[in-house]
Amino acid sequence: MPNVNAYAAPSATEPLGPLQIERREPGPKDVQIDIAYCGICHSDIHFCRGEWGAIPYPAIPGHEITGTVAAVGSEVTKHRVGDRVGVGCMVDSCRECANCARGEEQYCLPGNTQTYGSTGPDGRPTYGGYSSQIVVDEDFVLRIPDGLSLEEAAPLLCAGVTTWSPLRHWNAGPGQQVAVVGLGGLGHMAVKLAAALGAEVTVLSQSLRKRDDGLRLGAKHYYATSDKATFKELAGRFDLIVNTVSAPIDINAFLRLLKTDGTLVNVGAPPEPLPVQVFWLNFQRRSFAGSGIGSIRETQEMLDFCAEHGIAADIEVIGAQQINEAWERVLASDVRYRFVIDIATLDEKT
Ligand code: NAP
Ligand code: ZN
Ligand code: ZN
Repeated sequence: MPNVNAYAAPSATEPLGPLQIERREPGPKDVQIDIAYCGICHSDIHFCRGEWGAIPYPAIPGHEITGTVAAVGSEVTKHRVGDRVGVGCMVDSCRECANCARGEEQYCLPGNTQTYGSTGPDGRPTYGGYSSQIVVDEDFVLRIPDGLSLEEAAPLLCAGVTTWSPLRHWNAGPGQQVAVVGLGGLGHMAVKLAAALGAEVTVLSQSLRKRDDGLRLGAKHYYATSDKATFKELAGRFDLIVNTVSAPIDINAFLRLLKTDGTLVNVGAPPEPLPVQVFWLNFQRRSFAGSGIGSIRETQEMLDFCAEHGIAADIEVIGAQQINEAWERVLASDVRYRFVIDIATLDEKT
């Protein structure tokens, strides 16, 4: 296969820049995808900057991938050349463990193969979607329904399914009070999806700066966590709180906002611990849980749900040359609500 254009982090501290990489030749079960768009997830930044631990460089992030099928292996049955497809955070799993057997390959016991930061079947590091082509086993390739544009669908592959999965697991729906902490990439999808599932949604953001957006996205209430009165007023209010914040927050303040038997599910992944004062759990039989991405089945279900309900991500499309600037804006909580890279610009001279 010809070399593929990519944008790579050369180290934890240097800006990303262009790089040519090789992809494996498609095997019998592989789908070769021309990437059209890739969303920028905060995980890309945590990972490339070594915040979750040391990684090999160069690193090529990106796990919110959409594009079209360029070629398929001889045994591929699920996808055809020209199909509009997506790839999320995983590109393979063991397929044999108890979790894979029940269709929860995101929790594959020996560990799934991540789109970037894992080792691929060819023994080389996996490289993500900040690149013009990718080769993926057909079972880990999603169908993008006709009603969704490729650019607006891209963030659904991580931000969408990562919030969909816990909302479904904890039965968000009519009669439920759901709070979303942090209105960024994941947060804005959590608001849209929880509202579409019929829950009454409250946004808990650092300030009221994005209030109008939050209400437009489907929230009924919007509070600033910088205001102490918020925590008094909302005590005992929620059945489910989805914490999407990328930095450590005082989790105990939020646990007190749960009803009896309520759950605070953490999807944010700051490297620092979040200390819990157990009294706030014991006191009302509350739960503090975590959730990681979602299964392939759930991802397809979420994509189909979005197409049916006219839901997609709110995006700002950028060129490859703006990736470093976009990362700085993500870090400054200045994103409305997902940057999506137009991968055609990878071919332009920088
Ligand atoms: P993002 O777009 O940067 O959004 C994070 C939001 O958190 C910000 O918009 C901001 O919202 C709030 N925030 C940021 N810093 C804060 C601080 N110091 N104190 C309080 N609030 C703060 O990030 P994202 O792409 O949605 O990702 C969010 C987190 O989820 C990241 O840690 C990412 O790695 C993780 N993640 C986890 C999974 C999983 O499988 N569990 C999957 C994808 C991503 P406001 O301005 O509204 O306060
Ligand atoms: Zn992500
Ligand atoms: Zn497995």
